[in-house]
Formats: sequence, C-alpha cells, structure tokens
Amino acid sequence: MIYKSYGKTGLNVSAVGFGGMRFDTKQSNEENAKLLHYAVDHGINYLDTAPGYCDDKSEDIFGIAIKQMADKRDRFYVSTKGMPEKFDTAEKAQEAVETSLKRLNTDTIDFYHVWCIRRWSEYELATKPGGQYEGLLKCKEQGKIKHIVVSTHLRGPEVENLVSKNEFEGVLLGVNILNFLYRWDGVQAAHKLGLGVVAMNPLAGGIIPQNEDFLSFLAGENETPTEAALRFCISCPQITVTLNGFTTKDHIETACKVADNAKPFTEEDIERLRSHVTNNMDKLCTGCGYCMGHCPVDIPIASFMQFYNNQLMLNKTDTEMTKDLAVEWEWGVIADRHANAADCVQCGRCETACTQHLDIINRLGHIGEWEASLKKNGEQSS
Ligand code: SF4
Ligand code: SF4
Repeated sequence: MIYKSYGKTGLNVSAVGFGGMRFDTKQSNEENAKLLHYAVDHGINYLDTAPGYCDDKSEDIFGIAIKQMADKRDRFYVSTKGMPEKFDTAEKAQEAVETSLKRLNTDTIDFYHVWCIRRWSEYELATKPGGQYEGLLKCKEQGKIKHIVVSTHLRGPEVENLVSKNEFEGVLLGVNILNFLYRWDGVQAAHKLGLGVVAMNPLAGGIIPQNEDFLSFLAGENETPTEAALRFCISCPQITVTLNGFTTKDHIETACKVADNAKPFTEEDIERLRSHVTNNMDKLCTGCGYCMGHCPVDIPIASFMQFYNNQLMLNKTDTEMTKDLAVEWEWGVIADRHANAADCVQCGRCETACTQHLDIINRLGHIGEWEASLKKNGEQSS
C-alpha cells in the first residue's frame, strides 16, 4: 500500500480508501462489517461513509466494525458527511454530528464533510452566519470532529474558488480517467493550496468495468481498463486518496494490488488518453441516484440516463438506440418503470439535483422520440 500525506493535516493516509456506498444490503450488517476488518488488515486506513448510503445501513455497518476494532482505533481514520440543505443551522449540524458519532461508535470523526456542494448557493448556505459550518467549528473545538472538509460536484474553476476560501482542509470530488480533462483545474488548485484531495468514482460509477471492450484504450501493458482506471487515480501525485466502493473481498484485493504496483501515468500515457477521451465522456451519467425521488411522475431517471450513456459512448444511431430501447423496455433496467421518458413534465427538479449537471430534460426528449418510433412500429409501452 502507498501512503500519502493528507494536505497539511500531518496525517498519513492510504492511497486506497474504503468507500462505504456499495455494501451488499442483502447481507447482514455484521457480515458487511467484516469487509472493513479485511480492508484495515490490508493497510487501508481511510474509511468513508455517510448517512443514507446503502439504504441508510452504511454508518451502522461502520459502527459495528469500529466497535470491534476499538483496540486499533488509532490505526484508521473515519470520514462521514452532512448536507447543508438538511442541516441548515449550527444546532442542526451539531445534532447531525452527535447522531453520526453514536451510529459510528466513536468519540471523534476524523474527517467531516460539508456534503455534496453542487451549486454555489449550497456553499453559501453552509457558510452563512449560524449555519452548518459554524456548528461544525463548535464540534471541532469540542474534539468531536478533527478536520472539516468538503465534498463537491462543482466544475473545475468553481472548485478553485471553493478551496481558496481557506475554510476546508480537504476536498472530495469526482475525478477519474474519463473525466480528468474537465476536472483537473479543481484537483490542481486544491493540491497547490495544501488541501487533501480525495477522488470518488474512480470507475465512473461502474461505466468502466461494464464497458471494458469499448474502453480497452485505457489499459497499459498487462492490465485491464478497470485496473488502469484505478492506477490513474491511485498513482496520481495530486490525488491523496482514491475511494473505492467495496462489495467483496476481491474488490479490496484488486485495489490493493493496483496500489502495490502503481506506476504513475507518463506524459505519453496522458497524451494517448487525451486523444481518445472525447467531450462526451464528461457527460456520462454515473448512476449516483441523486436525481431519484424528486420526479412528480416517477420516471426512473437514472435508468434512462444510463441507457443514454450508450449513445454518448458508442455513438449509436437513432435506429440502433430505438432497437436497444425495445430490449430495455422488455428486459432491461427500465422494464418495471411507472412512466416513460415522454411523460416528463419538464419541472427541472432532477436537473437541479444531478451531480453531473446533465441536461436530463433534453435527453428524455430524445429518448421520447425513440419511444414514439417504437409505438409507431407497434411495440407496446406501459
Ligand atoms: S424534469 Fe421531467 S424527469 Fe425531471 S423530475 Fe421533472 S418530470 Fe421528472
Ligand atoms: S442523472 Fe445525474 S443525478 Fe441521476 S444518476 Fe445520473 S449522474 Fe446521478
């Protein structure tokens, strides 16, 4: 395992972090907690969770493992989060920290994130007088939090502005081998200013392992595109920790193997990527699900957007996409939908929530045209 210095905190953290957002929720919490033991035994010391992850089980799973590993508590760092919209006063923010401390079975949270800044107004909400940030500062004074950090989906130049405020000791952002060209300003700026930089989504929300043939250009010698994507973030000098959402022990072993042999990408490698990675790669839906639960007509937005990824990545024609849609209607992730793309009433709520700033309404309009072709050709739609 490689260890890196987390910004100016003086902490030495593992280049691979445990992302607690992909536990197998069909398993018991106790069974899932064993994965955290396995990770810590393999040298992973940055453990990241949040309220709500994995049907809201993740913090509880962490709590079980942390209690069991009480004698090793100085060997790992725990990270969790709170959203400014939900905890919009100092009091609410302090209560949220108390709740997380109890669930996590710990006296202190090493890294607490102001979570999911997608728009500048959310940053302003978090840092307003009497707001979340003020509550977190009080928690820090009381030793309940060690470091206040931020997670964001802002674009590169806005990230630069966010990290220059001197309020946060680290930043968590979505950067990977496919979108790095468009996220790089933010990463560089944070690193230069001495913040810890944590990368989430190194596999682009599963897009890379699911499309290894198409993305074979990512791989160097003797590695898969998935391993190349992990190596890209893990070996990057400007990225401190790369979060991996682990579901199995195999996943942990793969990430640790990559970290043990992490050769940084050369300038030539980067040039090779630059020539292949298209503008579209930054416009892919990562399947994060933040858009779900807002739609007044219950459209399975994330499923439709993941389907739309194929058009962006594979440059399929309308005829091909219409054919694919027929299969999806019948067998795919949208087979049990309550509404079709054409049912969108363009309220815009999903776009406000989208972490990738996708033009969802436009895309649904496009998919709606494919739906109309299918209907014209006599296919059924519920
Ligand atoms: S814009 Fe369309 S898809 Fe998005 S929440 Fe509104 S109705 Fe649903
Ligand atoms: S549409 Fe946006 S918010 Fe929804 S799953 Fe995709 S990336 Fe996430």
